[in-house]
Amino acid sequence: MTTVTGSCHCGAVGFEMAFGGPIETSRCSCSICRKARFWKTVVPADAFTLLCGENALRSYRFGSGSIDHRFCAGCGVKLFGTVQLEGTAFVAVSALPRPRPRDSGRPDHAP
Ligand SMILES: [Zn+2]
Repeated sequence: MTTVTGSCHCGAVGFEMAFGGPIETSRCSCSICRKARFWKTVVPADAFTLLCGENALRSYRFGSGSIDHRFCAGCGVKLFGTVQLEGTAFVAVSALPRPRPRDSGRPDHAP
């Protein structure tokens, strides 16, 4: 098992994520993630740990409200979220340290 840490741009929010193999990623195509160009990886919810910044985090839900999109109120970076029914957490690849995992999802044709 490998653990990586990630953070938002201003550094208020930090987290760690554990994974057992190559990090699979994809570009989410839901309505909010298309607008935010969100590139994610998905892990079991218990593999994700918030290290700091709970007070800086804000939540955004829409539709059925079953998905909790979390972002930093200080810098606005969308970092992660949870899908309660699936017991998973999705994490922004952009919040992980470099080198970042390769994009194994569909190609992004936007400029
Ligand atoms: Zn921040």
